[in-house]
This record gives sequence, C-alpha cells and structure tokens, in this order.
Amino acid sequence: MATVTFDKATRNYPGSDRAAVDALEIDIADGEFLVLVGPSGCGKSTSLRMLAGLEDVNDGAIRIGDREVTHLPPKDRDIAMVFQNYALYPHMTVGDNMGFALKIAGVNKADIRTRVEEAAKILDLTEYLDRKPKALSGGQRQRVAMGRAIVREPRVFLMDEPLSNLDAKLRVQTRTQIASLQRRLGTTTVYVTHDQVEAMTMGDRVAVLKDGRLQQVDSPRHMYDRPANLFVAGFIGSPAMNLVEVAITDGGVKFGNSVVPVNREALAAAGSGEATVTVGVRPEHFDIVGGDAGPLAKNAPAGVAVTVNVVEELGADGYVYGTADIGGASTDIVIRVGGRRIPDKGDVLHVVPRPGETHVFSTSTGERLSD
Ligand code: ADP
Repeated sequence: MATVTFDKATRNYPGSDRAAVDALEIDIADGEFLVLVGPSGCGKSTSLRMLAGLEDVNDGAIRIGDREVTHLPPKDRDIAMVFQNYALYPHMTVGDNMGFALKIAGVNKADIRTRVEEAAKILDLTEYLDRKPKALSGGQRQRVAMGRAIVREPRVFLMDEPLSNLDAKLRVQTRTQIASLQRRLGTTTVYVTHDQVEAMTMGDRVAVLKDGRLQQVDSPRHMYDRPANLFVAGFIGSPAMNLVEVAITDGGVKFGNSVVPVNREALAAAGSGEATVTVGVRPEHFDIVGGDAGPLAKNAPAGVAVTVNVVEELGADGYVYGTADIGGASTDIVIRVGGRRIPDKGDVLHVVPRPGETHVFSTSTGERLSD
C-alpha cells in the first residue's frame, strides 16, 4: 500500500498552448479511494496516465509512497490499471487473462493459480474461470478486468471510467461492488469518471478538475455542502444548484422578497464596486411558504413567487421546474417538493431559501464568499 502525491504535476501536449494538466497538487492517503471528476477534456485521463507512466510529466513530480516515479516506466511503478474497454485477450480463458501479468513477471504456476482463484472467489468468477471472455456478460467481463488488477497485488489501482460500458442498472450495482471491494482490500485507488454521482457515491474524497486545473478536493459531503466556487457548485449535485445573480443590499443580498444574510467580510471580499453576487440554493433547500396568493396579490408573502412550468414526479419526492422574477430578471428555478405535495403546472409557489443553507459566490471571480 502507498500514498500518491501529485506535486504540481503538469502536462503540456506538444503543439497546445494550454496545459492539459496544470500544476496538479493532490496528496492521496494510503488506502484512500480518490475520484477525479470533471467534464470531458478537463484533464482527468491525462492525470491518471501521468500517474501510470503512460504520459510525460513536463513539470512538477509524482510520488508513490516516498519514491519519486515521475520518469519511471509504467512497469516499475507497482500499479495496476483497469481501463474502460477491458482489453481482455479474446483467445485466453478468464483464468489465463487474470493470471497473464503474473506469468509475464515469471511468477510460478502454483502461485498464479492460488492468486487467480482467490481473486475469482472475491469477484464471484470461480465458475467462469475456464470460459472465454466472449461467453461472459458485460458485468462479468468488467469483473475479470478487476480481477486482473487484483491478482497483481499492486500498491495502487488506477481506474479509467471502468463502468462506462455497462448499462445504467449494472453500473449502479457494480459501483457499489467496486467501492466495497476497494475498502476490503485497502489498496490506494485513483478512479476517473465524468459522472458526478459516481464520484460522490464511490470516493473517500473527490477532486474536481476544470480546464486542467484542480478546483476542489474534498469529501463528498463537504464538497456538496461547501463548494469552493461557482463551477463546483453547478457541477456537483443533480438537479444542479440554483445559481442566481442578485443585488447586494444592507445586511445581505436580496433574493426576491427575502434577504439572504451574508457577513460583512464576505461582502467586502466580493470586492469594491461590485453591485451583485451570485447566490446558490440547492433544490431541496427551499421552504414553501404562504397560501394561494398569486404573484399579483396585494400582500404577497415573503420569498419568491415561482410559476410552475414542469413537474417531475419521482414517487418519494418530485422536482418543480419553474420561473421567477428575481430583481427584474426572469429566472429558472428548480425546487424539490415532497411526493405528497406535488403542485400542478401553472401553480404559483412562494419559496424562501432555508436560512443557513444558502451559498454566496463572487459573480466576477466565481469564488465562494460565504462561510
Ligand atoms: P478528460 O479525460 O478529462 O476527458 P483528457 O485528459 O483526455 O481529458 O484531455 C485533456 C486535454 O488534453 C483536452 O483538451 C484534450 O483535447 C487534450 N489532449 C488529450 N490527449 C491529447 C494528446 N494525445 N495530444 C494532444 N492533446 C491531447
């Protein structure tokens, strides 16, 4: 087992004027499951491939344990990689596929057999060891690919979108299996995905990348509760956080008829001369207030009047997609409602952001301002 350190690791592809991975700094603990996540092209695979030794590091360093591996060939790094296309050898049996790397490394036959059988037991593959990959389901092939990595007993597992070839249901099952397997084996793991739900459900910590730059590395809970900037706020969570540009007023910022408190230091940090900030409210953090008063009623209740456009019923709860007039601008708002309190299209809901559950960001820099 081992720690993994990206120490300002940078990759500039020849001919590109922007670094694909720009001074990446992450310290991964021994036994940790770290997920790299971000939109397509943000540098996830390049980061993983740098750690694997499949991509040059142009600046900075990478360490596994206390050993610098920045310029070592892949075979000397004591890692095992699971790719998105499992790259199984079609002419070999499952058992031979799993043991192949050990055979190349000169491990004796009896030891290979023991290690393959152990891994097969863990992965529920014992009865398939003599089959060829084409006689397996997608999920089983995925497990063979995992098995091939496990038998090598590496210091670090690297996984590049290993679930992307599975259908939705199997992906959910398999992600739980991989996460629990990793915890059982205790092997440090770096896992790449573009799927934020996968990242949040699997990782001990999640690292969000954008344009080659690390945005935040944090536990799933903390990332969700306190996103460091507008990008992370919008990327983590589904449906996404409502992000609305609003005017700064005395003691806070005005969100419809409610004032969202923001401390003075935070507002000062927004920078002099800034008239607005961006307030974030997750769909589950609105309270519905008042009765049936429409937006034109004389004593409109506090909060924001949201006209319901679309309702998505999910059984236990539902999502309301509506429009509100906030500070004179027509704004799309998503609100989670209880499964027994689903409004109809055309209804008007009065909603107030729940105190303590709002997020405030600088509109110009995107940085988080609230605590
Ligand atoms: P991700 O895995 O997050 O989708 P990548 O790491 O594959 O992103 O790519 C990061 C950036 O580097 C992208 O802009 C991509 O176009 C660029 N890139 C990736 N591979 C190469 C390559 N072999 N040569 C040049 N540019 C590349």
